[in-house]
Amino acid sequence: MHRIVVVGGGAGGLELVTKLGDLIGHKENISITLVDAGLTHVWKPLLHEAASGSLDLAANEVNYLVHSHQHNYNYVYGSLVDINKDKKSIDIEIISLMNPEIKCIRSIEYDTLVLALGSKSNDFNVAGVKEHCYFLDSQDQAKKIHDNIFMSYFDMKQQVIPAQSDYHVAIIGGGATGVELISELINLKNKMAETLFKELSQIKVKFTLIDSSERLLSGLSPSISKEVEKNLAAMGVNILKNARVSAIDADKVYFSDGSALEANLKVWTAGIKAPQVLEDLNGFEKDNIHRLKVYATLQTYSDPNIFALGDCAHCQLDAAHPPLGARAQVASQQAEFLALSLINRLENKKLPMFKFVEKGSIVSLGKEQAVGEVLNELNIYGKLARTAYDALYRLHQVNIHGLNQTVQLHKRDSAAKNLLKKFKLY
Ligand SMILES: Cc1cc2nc3c(=O)[nH]c(=O)nc-3n(C[C@H](O)[C@H](O)[C@H](O)COP(=O)(O)OP(=O)(O)OC[C@H]3O[C@@H](n4cnc5c(N)ncnc54)[C@H](O)[C@@H]3O)c2cc1C
Repeated sequence: MHRIVVVGGGAGGLELVTKLGDLIGHKENISITLVDAGLTHVWKPLLHEAASGSLDLAANEVNYLVHSHQHNYNYVYGSLVDINKDKKSIDIEIISLMNPEIKCIRSIEYDTLVLALGSKSNDFNVAGVKEHCYFLDSQDQAKKIHDNIFMSYFDMKQQVIPAQSDYHVAIIGGGATGVELISELINLKNKMAETLFKELSQIKVKFTLIDSSERLLSGLSPSISKEVEKNLAAMGVNILKNARVSAIDADKVYFSDGSALEANLKVWTAGIKAPQVLEDLNGFEKDNIHRLKVYATLQTYSDPNIFALGDCAHCQLDAAHPPLGARAQVASQQAEFLALSLINRLENKKLPMFKFVEKGSIVSLGKEQAVGEVLNELNIYGKLARTAYDALYRLHQVNIHGLNQTVQLHKRDSAAKNLLKKFKLY
């Protein structure tokens, strides 16, 4: 019996166990187990849509237990807390769903371990961020942002807050997550002002996007940054560039030049680091944001039986290029590669080397438009770019559900959208 244990069922991990389960899960001498700290999977690049409420979270959740049954792998609900390399076992903490005070630690043995734990926001120890900012790392956090905005709009509607008050939203971090989130929140506000909360048209809701670089989306080409900045300015976003945040409190964002900005809702999207469990783990070689260093085989520097992929892996394929970025397409390509590579490993064949194929980047600016560069420097805009952006999620669905089921899901989503339009809610 060869035991493959994958920890983390996100953009990379879920695609990996699906492929492995479909290809070899039925074999009696192989067991595949997915461990995840959640009961359901939502593709992380959808979280800004969950935060605005434009995405029906329940309809887009994948239940791990049901999915594992359909794709020949085992699922264990629990959080990784430790790895014992000598015993080839991991410790996971399981919290009772009925009574969260009841917890236990369970050990799971492996022959091959894959860590696909993703990443979380990095507050860079800026004072007050933990206490006063929202983050966009999980479904729960997306729901919290949504609830905060909706409750505030309700208060304004019911005039609990005086009608002349302004409502300020500040997003700190002008990378793809910050840009996509602020676009969604503006769309939400405009839609609400036309439908359920007509009073919003009289209230000044201000949106500010803050970044310490000299342009937004500094990881993408300057032409994309320029187009995005132009679009956001047209949507009414106040863009603050070269602005370094030094502290945050309940009412304000403070900058290193001594100025300050009032903000009711503050969301921190300014960088990532590996999850706490990897930060705490000893005996592994890591980078400065605690990601595990891996070779091109995706084996960790520290143990050939332990692999890592996606956001939690520091994978630098050659000295001329920087490590691969924290992107869903990296996690997905690594998952596809590793599924086939692990089958080689079971057959005692030499492991192949991962090669990343850059397919471009698309940044959504709300439900109707996007901006992106594809196929090595071809820039695309507007509805075409938005259609290409939507296709990325459909590709993920094909990888975890297959083509037929994805077509059915697409039909269901279109019908739901038409219904909302009919009731003038979309
Ligand atoms: C709002 C937003 C928009 C984005 N848009 C894009 C985009 O347009 N294009 C793009 O390429 N990328 C985008 N990204 C980045 C992309 O989401 C990530 O790079 C990708 O999800 C990484 O995949 P992963 O499998 O490494 O981790 P994740 O998808 O984050 O999955 C990690 C999994 O590990 C589980 N886990 C974590 N800790 C533990 C533990 N201790 N024990 C057990 N399980 C654990 C989690 O529950 C989760 O299921 C976006 C991210 C955000 C937040």
